[in-house]
Amino acid sequence: MLLNIDDRFILIIKQIKLNLAMNFPIYLDNNATTPCDPRVVDTMIPYFTQNFGNAASRNHSFGWVAEEAVDYAREQIAKLIGADPKEIIFTSGATEADNLAIKGVYEMYAAKGNHIITTTIEHKAVLDTCKHLEKQGAEVTYLEVDDKGMINLQDLEKAITPKTILVAIMYANNEIGTINPMKEISAIARKHGVLVMTDAVQAVGKIPVDVNKDGIDLLAFTAHKMYGPKGVGALYVRRKNPRVKVTAQIDGGGHERGMRSGTLNIPGIVGFGKACEICYNEMAADTARIIKLRDKLENGLLQIEESYLNGHPTNRLPHVANISFKHVEGEGLLMGINKHIALSSGSACTSASLEPSYVLKALGLGDDLAHSSLRFGLSRFSTEEEVDFTIKAVTDTVHKLREMSPLWEMYKEGIDLNSIEWAAH
Ligand code: PLP
Repeated sequence: MLLNIDDRFILIIKQIKLNLAMNFPIYLDNNATTPCDPRVVDTMIPYFTQNFGNAASRNHSFGWVAEEAVDYAREQIAKLIGADPKEIIFTSGATEADNLAIKGVYEMYAAKGNHIITTTIEHKAVLDTCKHLEKQGAEVTYLEVDDKGMINLQDLEKAITPKTILVAIMYANNEIGTINPMKEISAIARKHGVLVMTDAVQAVGKIPVDVNKDGIDLLAFTAHKMYGPKGVGALYVRRKNPRVKVTAQIDGGGHERGMRSGTLNIPGIVGFGKACEICYNEMAADTARIIKLRDKLENGLLQIEESYLNGHPTNRLPHVANISFKHVEGEGLLMGINKHIALSSGSACTSASLEPSYVLKALGLGDDLAHSSLRFGLSRFSTEEEVDFTIKAVTDTVHKLREMSPLWEMYKEGIDLNSIEWAAH
């Protein structure tokens, strides 16, 4: 359809208005980190200035005010995961909480055994900790996943031995969003008297998580993935049925019931508490809205020829869509859009690596598809205008890159790319 000059002018004005209404660049990398909710920031500010006390100072009101703030935050945080406030141990983030849980259990339960079960698609905070323990004599089983990122529960049960002390399986994956069946996993582990630890960084605040209903003994989470500040996280450690203990990994002063020493980050903890309270009150409404946006984005992008959704189609976090665009280099695609849209091709912790994502490879993707994937992560601040803009920008860039790609040309001409013998380098 040809538009007349007036119509084109109106369209251009509409586009300019839309662009002015949006904040560029659009942020769609919310699995790497989320913006701090302004309500969280407002709650934190007094704890940098007038309420700057050390919660361990017992002799004056500055210390008492800080301690009171920590107690209140501990309640807000515990409530979000159905825990008792005494079961929350503050850390510097989830990497530390993962380390404390896994190394702490390994050392505390050494007399029982040295075997840990985890999966091949855990975050590096878990995988590298397990690798470290293997050097110390631990035996680690890495369970494989299917093409949607799910473990096989029978494999889990078969892997348990009398020496197994811990099952460490993430609640939901950070690259593809697939959610694990935690209730079933913990039922199997409990039947064999094995503790269950979960890295729930991407799940807490996004979907309902309840340590008692889910049968979890240790749970790592972090404020900056749920609209709170960076540099503060927590490890939930069960106190009843069974009472779980971990050996401290940071000594000095005996803070946090002897499990994690060091002066508490009061503004961070206050912000973490507020972030949890907001998630507790608003998660249902946020999720309903975000799912609609995510589905719109996903459906729009999957209209692109030869594009594929990675991970579980339904059993997935509401804000995540990981999509491969065949015969398009993920890095090239990112460079084509990163002036306007902040996205990533996988975990922020491995984004410096040129290797294809080990998570996507574990699902069975070849190097080409794994290299051509982008992770879209929405948030409570994402808007429909941003989604519309992203669909158009990604579609245009994929088409442009494919026009320049000899592989795409061969593919369109029906040449079987697998039949070509590539020169060896
Ligand atoms: N675990 C998962 C699943 C994550 O996505 C991340 C962050 O990327 C972490 C652990 C590390 O959390 P933190 O940045 O708080 O150390």
